Formats: sequence, C-alpha cells, structure tokens
Amino acid sequence: MAGSKYEYVKKFELPDPLLMGTFLVLRIDGHAFHKLSEAHSFNKPNDERALQLMDHAARDVMNEFKDILLAFGESDEYSFLFRKSSALYNRRQAKILTTVTSLFTSSYVYNWSKYLPDQELKYPPSFDGRIVLYPSSKEVRDYFAWRQADTHINNLYNTIFWALVLQGGESTSQAHATLRGTVSSKKHEMLHSRFSINYNSLPARFRKGSILVREKVVPDKTDVQALGAEGATDSPDAVSSGTPGPTSGKPAKKPKVQFTTELLHCDIIGDEFWEQRPYLLA
Ligand code: ATP
Ligand code: ATP
Ligand code: MG
Ligand code: MG
Ligand code: MG
Ligand code: MG
Ligand code: MG
Repeated sequence: MAGSKYEYVKKFELPDPLLMGTFLVLRIDGHAFHKLSEAHSFNKPNDERALQLMDHAARDVMNEFKDILLAFGESDEYSFLFRKSSALYNRRQAKILTTVTSLFTSSYVYNWSKYLPDQELKYPPSFDGRIVLYPSSKEVRDYFAWRQADTHINNLYNTIFWALVLQGGESTSQAHATLRGTVSSKKHEMLHSRFSINYNSLPARFRKGSILVREKVVPDKTDVQALGAEGATDSPDAVSSGTPGPTSGKPAKKPKVQFTTELLHCDIIGDEFWEQRPYLLA
C-alpha cells in the first residue's frame, strides 16, 4: 500500500528494545498519593481497603500478562517481575510500560467503589511507571529484598508516628521531632511501653507487604486423567511435570503444570521463598 507524502514522519520514531535475556522489573507508584490519601480520608497509618484495591489492580495486570511471575506491593506502589525470556511486544519498552501502567490505573479506578464504597473518588488518580533491567537472579532477589525492607522501615515509622499523633495527642511536627534520630529498637520499645502495641502482632499485610506469585498446582492422579490432552495453563509456559499418567497401556500424555496466582504476606528476603519456587528466577 502506497503511503502518503506525510508518512516520512514515522521515521522519527526510535526503537526502544529492552535488552534480551535480562529480567524486567516494572514498578508503578501512585502520583501524589500523600494528597490522594488525605483527600479520601484513608485510615492512618495503613488503610487496608486501599491496599486491597492495589492488590486487585495488580492481580488484573497479572491476569492479562502471563509473563509476570511475581509482584510485590506496598503503600501506593507495585513491582512486577517479568520472566527473563519474555518476548512481550517484542520487548518494546514504551509499549510494555504504558500498557501495564494504564491497565493498573484503570483497574484501580474501575474497582475503587468496591473497596471504598463510602468515599466518592474526587478526581482521577494516576501512577508513574519505570522499567529496570537486571542481569541476574542476585539483583532480582536484592531488588525485592530492598522493597520489602522498605515496607518494614516505613511501616515501623508510620505506626509509631500515627500512635503519637492519634493516641498520644502530638501534632504531626511534634511526632516527627519525637522520632528524630531514634533507632529501630527504640521505636519498638516506645510502641510497647507507651501504646501497648507489639509490632510483630500487627497484620502481616502491613509488615511484609503483598506478594502475588504464580504457584504451581500439582495435579493429583484424577486431575491427570481428567486433563487428557488439554492441559490448560495459566502461566508460566507449560512445563512438563513428569507426573505418571493413567495406566491404560498407551504412554500417557504428560499433563501441563497449571498455575494459580496467590496473594501472600510472607518474607521474601530469606532463601526459603525462592528455593520453593526456582521457576521464578529461571
Ligand atoms: P510521588 O508522586 O512522588 O510518589 P506520593 O505523595 O505518592 O508522591 P509516596 O512516597 O509514593 O509519595 O508515598 C505514598 C503516600 O501515600 C504514603 O506516604 C501515604 O501517605 C499514602 N498512602 C498510600 N497508600 C496508603 C494506604 N493504604 N493507607 C494510608 N496511606 C497511604
Ligand atoms: P494495538 O494494541 O496494537 O494498538 P488495536 O486493536 O488497538 O491494537 P489500532 O491500530 O490501535 O489497533 O486500531 C484501533 C482499532 O480500534 C481500530 O482499527 C478500530 O477497529 C477500533 N476503534 C477505535 N476507535 C473506534 C471508534 N471510535 N469506532 C469504531 N472503532 C474504533
Ligand atoms: Mg514516589
Ligand atoms: Mg507515590
Ligand atoms: Mg510510593
Ligand atoms: Mg490506534
Ligand atoms: Mg490501539
């Protein structure tokens, strides 16, 4: 098809491929959510409904993009880990980043009233986004450890800060001053002695953040028979499980391993989480 004389402008567009064979981490963060949380009377320090809404939007993103194996959320941010071998949109950076960020944003808005039915959304929220490439599993693990450590540091600070304000009667600037220079053990001690709060008994969602992870469903024998040739999979790409098939004479078709997406609030800094799921970093 012959183009128009104007078509040359297309040549000004530059390719923006993401280096192949690297892990992609895409992080979105709410724009000016300090203000948004105030304008919509979020509970302080943690509005659980708002966190659940973030988890819902992240799950919608994972349902759409099967190359995402893991996501981690805290406060107004979510990080998504794409498999190293992802060929999504030919690894075009802008296409991936804008599509994921806008899907997350529209899901956040679309589902707002389910989680905050008493809070009319007063203006359209937005999220920024970035993609960072990591060359090996070490940096990926350290990235997620960095975000979960951040969750802990912020939550400890915010918990004692809002206890000082809401229960201790301090102004916000007084509370900041009270906490200036205090180390972690001092904050734990203040929480306990002044407000009878045992930090470790606070909800895990607040202390550990939200982990959405593809979990393998191990098919039992009856599932193997029922599956037949059609092993529907969620993601990652079908992996042969090696589970023995029905004893019908013919060599059984190996069922494809199925995946579900589970929401956890567990430790991801230590080895256990990753050792149980080696496919996340394959
Ligand atoms: P920026 O646009 O630079 O990201 P921001 O105001 O969004 O600015 P952040 O560092 O991203 O700043 O912090 C987000 C803020 O949103 C938190 O500090 C907190 O005040 C508020 N917030 C987000 N989620 C919640 C929640 N679930 N409950 C209570 N407050 C929240
Ligand atoms: P991609 O994700 O690659 O952009 P796409 O399906 O969105 O794929 P586009 O080239 O962007 O493809 O074209 C958008 C298509 O959406 C149009 O070809 C048309 O079929 C449909 N469309 C968009 N707006 C309208 C509209 N106002 N009325 C009818 N159809 C529309
Ligand atoms: Mg920010
Ligand atoms: Mg923000
Ligand atoms: Mg933030
Ligand atoms: Mg178009
Ligand atoms: Mg289009």
